[in-house]
Amino acid sequence: MTHQPEKPTPLLVLDLDGTVRHGRDELGRFVNGPDDVIVFPEAVEQMRQWKAHGGRIIGVSNQGGIALGFMTMQTCAKAMMRTHELCDGLFDKIAWCSHFPEATHPELARCWCRKPSPGLLIESAIELAARYGEYYPPHLGLFIGDRIEDQECARLAGFTFQWATDWRAQAEVMQP
Ligand SMILES: [Mg+2]
Ligand SMILES: [Zn+2]
Repeated sequence: MTHQPEKPTPLLVLDLDGTVRHGRDELGRFVNGPDDVIVFPEAVEQMRQWKAHGGRIIGVSNQGGIALGFMTMQTCAKAMMRTHELCDGLFDKIAWCSHFPEATHPELARCWCRKPSPGLLIESAIELAARYGEYYPPHLGLFIGDRIEDQECARLAGFTFQWATDWRAQAEVMQP
């Protein structure tokens, strides 16, 4: 263990579908695989700025289509890796919930990670804290999303919330 003394670090939490990348719903519709991923350039620019100021970035995504059998874990993981690549490798971590309340098996139906539950955020923050010797006070953090469950997830975690459209529009202002 060679951790630096713990350092308070701003954490940017990004929903993926409709926030960082183009519209695909969590059941995997409108996308067949990693080749279909398209990211918003404004989102990547905002991510770049956040990292330039010493922050960390995690992606958090509900992927309930996995629990329902609409999408395999492998396809989802490949699309996530493609997303990371298209975002110039700026994510420190991407985490997703593969559960869905209406799945038949209770192991696939119940979890603490499906947004609005804050499990993905908390698990990721703990992992990054151990990796980098940092911690992530909610008052320094920012959560960006395009749906009401993102807003509620941010509230439960104590993070400031901003709508994806507003956040991306700010990048356009900074990038003439
Ligand atoms: Mg979304
Ligand atoms: Zn889950």
